[in-house]
Amino acid sequence: MQKVLVTGGAGYIGSHTSLVLLEKGYEVVILDNLCNSSEESIRRVEKLTGKKITFYNVDLMDKEATLEVLNKEPNIDSVIHFAALKAVGESVQKPLIYYNNNISGTINLLECMQETGVNNIVFSSSATVYGDAKEIPVPETAPLGATNPYGQTKLMMETILTDCAKANEKMNVTLLRYFNPVGAHESGEIGEDPEYPNNLLPFVQQVAAGIRPKVFIFGDDYDTPDGTGVRDYIHVMDLAEAHEAAIAKMNGVKVYNVGTGTGYSVKEMIESFRQISGSEISAEITARREGDVAMLTPKAELIKDELGCEAKRGLTEMITDAWHWQSQNPKGFRE
Ligand code: NAD
Ligand code: UDP
Repeated sequence: MQKVLVTGGAGYIGSHTSLVLLEKGYEVVILDNLCNSSEESIRRVEKLTGKKITFYNVDLMDKEATLEVLNKEPNIDSVIHFAALKAVGESVQKPLIYYNNNISGTINLLECMQETGVNNIVFSSSATVYGDAKEIPVPETAPLGATNPYGQTKLMMETILTDCAKANEKMNVTLLRYFNPVGAHESGEIGEDPEYPNNLLPFVQQVAAGIRPKVFIFGDDYDTPDGTGVRDYIHVMDLAEAHEAAIAKMNGVKVYNVGTGTGYSVKEMIESFRQISGSEISAEITARREGDVAMLTPKAELIKDELGCEAKRGLTEMITDAWHWQSQNPKGFRE
């Protein structure tokens, strides 16, 4: 049985990935400081799978404690590194906190992996590393550039990981550039649980549930079919499965977009949510959000060709599962 260390495994994508790993027969060790998550998600994953997770409430900024985890857990085959701060707006306000947590945390983790001889790592990167891409759908080979400190940390971490692999021929690094993860496990037991949502779908979910009065559409004057921003949304379970495919086939440094290849506008997303949830969902057009681009969708074939991994769930499933989770857990894990 392969053993995987999942940093940030109590979080949104980490909890779904841990579930997929357990179902596929992996042993899962989670390291998370719970700064943006709850231990309840881990308990629910255990309940859903009927399997145990070893959990360490540890901050990656604490190198000694991180090393202790790797020493206590010998024979880790791979690490999936989710642990990071991820709010774009907050990163603009508090850049040092973001650079410190995301970069120093990653360096600590890599040093601990080096000291204990763990050589395989899958990293949560983001479409944000493409900045305002000129070529849409954007291929993995497109020029990189970030428009905010959060994106800069992702770019820097990609560089650090790639340099480490260059220096150590035993090391395998897979960078997964996620587009827009949405939805939840079909059980409705785990899902995204932000207190103050920044992303579109969690915000719409909370409006549909009556937690917020309306959703603001950030600009309807973009050069897109209906004037609102177009993004590629991917079901979190498809994304979780992509991580399992990545650790099953590590080979040097690899970079993959993870999306569906199909874009939807903000208006289309809200309208689909109205239809599926039966909720009214008030929406108001406001100014563009700083740093937003009109359209960002990926070329999504490389991961399919090389890892045999393809997004299977469409928009209806994404929204149905998001709504199932939201309506079943109005306060998320905070009850
Ligand atoms: P999340 O906040 O739900 O999960 C991140 C987890 O990391 C949380 O449980 C948090 O407590 C933990 N964490 C943060 N800093 C830590 C530290 N120093 N030590 C230990 N644990 C720490 O976020 P998510 O949506 O699941 O995202 C997971 C990863 O995917 C992040 O790296 C994020 O940047 C990346 N990503 C997310 C999206 C998205 O839209 N959700 C898109 C692209 C990339
Ligand atoms: N958006 C919006 N209102 C919101 C949040 C987002 O109109 O409250 C728009 C945003 O401008 C973008 C799309 O929804 O066009 C997706 O934004 P999100 O923050 O979810 O993801 P991003 O692609 O920016 O990472």
